[in-house]
Amino acid sequence: MSLHTPTLMVCMILLTATFALSLAVVARRTQRDGLFLWGLALCTHTAGYVLFLARGQISPWASVVLANMLLSATLALMMEAMYQFQRRQPPRRWIWWPVALVGLAFSALLEHTNARVLLSALVLSLQSLQLAWVMWQRWHSTPGRGKWFVLVALALITLALLVRAAANATGTLALQSVVENHPLQSMVFISVMVFNVLANFGMVVMVKESADARNETLALTDELTGLHNRRHIQHTLHQQLAQAQRSGQPLGLLLLDVDWFKRINDEHGHLSGDRVLRELAAHLRAQLRTQDIIGRWGGEEFMALLPGTSQAQAQQLAERLRQSIEREHFHSHDGQALPVTVSIGVHSSQCRPQESAEQLVREADGALYRAKELGRNRVECAQAAMPPSPGAHTA
Ligand code: GH3
Ligand code: MG
Ligand code: MG
Repeated sequence: MSLHTPTLMVCMILLTATFALSLAVVARRTQRDGLFLWGLALCTHTAGYVLFLARGQISPWASVVLANMLLSATLALMMEAMYQFQRRQPPRRWIWWPVALVGLAFSALLEHTNARVLLSALVLSLQSLQLAWVMWQRWHSTPGRGKWFVLVALALITLALLVRAAANATGTLALQSVVENHPLQSMVFISVMVFNVLANFGMVVMVKESADARNETLALTDELTGLHNRRHIQHTLHQQLAQAQRSGQPLGLLLLDVDWFKRINDEHGHLSGDRVLRELAAHLRAQLRTQDIIGRWGGEEFMALLPGTSQAQAQQLAERLRQSIEREHFHSHDGQALPVTVSIGVHSSQCRPQESAEQLVREADGALYRAKELGRNRVECAQAAMPPSPGAHTA
């Protein structure tokens, strides 16, 4: 079945122009997530098809060479958009050489319609593969499902273009002009329309999904140190405690407070205090095991959750941390070395197995308070539960 090619082209122009306009409205303010460049790609796509449609009424240079360069530029701009979305520097030469090639080759092939159709199919499918490759390089770090829509769209258009190239090479599709009616032409133009819907939808969804993922991370992360924030560590504490109580494994908890931190702020300035907190957070992260969870509990206080760790093991770990912090060099904002010590309160859920998260924190906080009282730069444990006296058991 062959459809009327100029009508298909008009539909395509309307479709792409509508998408381009919609994206222009949405992406006007944010030019960092790739949507603006993607919208620009849709503009070159629309312009390319307007020039195709005007074949015979305008100069062949515009409706052949320029039109095909615009189509090739569409995929180049989509690649630029994808790099921007991935926050990577685009390799410009690698992206734009096909456009230059189309310009040169099509100027030389002005009189050879079928050679041009073949070449355009090959270059455009190569560019689709380039774009798929750009996506593939960041596939696992791109959240959500939008990427699948773009990938399927690219697979579809590559397949359609290669089928047309094969038909062209074998003589099945011998065209006098690009606006001629032919079943294969209809198949290609319908594929381009479906490509448009899928790829544009996919790109918008990708941008939304990655913004959602970023916001979620921001909501759970402490801005200064990059550790879990208080809300997140509190939530994790409840989860870990429930799991520990189910499995009968202990959960160790450390509350760690920087000694005399106010002095650092007073003597070296707030920026230095911030730097010490950042360096201390990195130090803690590096010293703890991968399964341990660390968060910023408040100003200069940190909480570490240690799954599967008894009170005695947690105490040993806390002592190791305290000593390593005492030995480490921390810095003021202008690079001056600052000595830092910490006091640590230790508790483990094994001491009182049915204890709530709040009680666990209260006990560790009490131990920390004692460490401060006893002179700072030391580790104190919460009191272990008294074993039940023989007479207490009445059942
Ligand atoms: P102690 O040994 O008893 O813990 O004494 P301290 O000086 O560490 O404790 P105090 O509670 O008196 O002071 C804590 C200081 O931490 C006060 C506050 O201004 C500072 N602080 C809290 N959050 C931040 C922050 O994000 N950046 C900086 N630079 N300072 C902070
Ligand atoms: Mg404090
Ligand atoms: Mg303090």
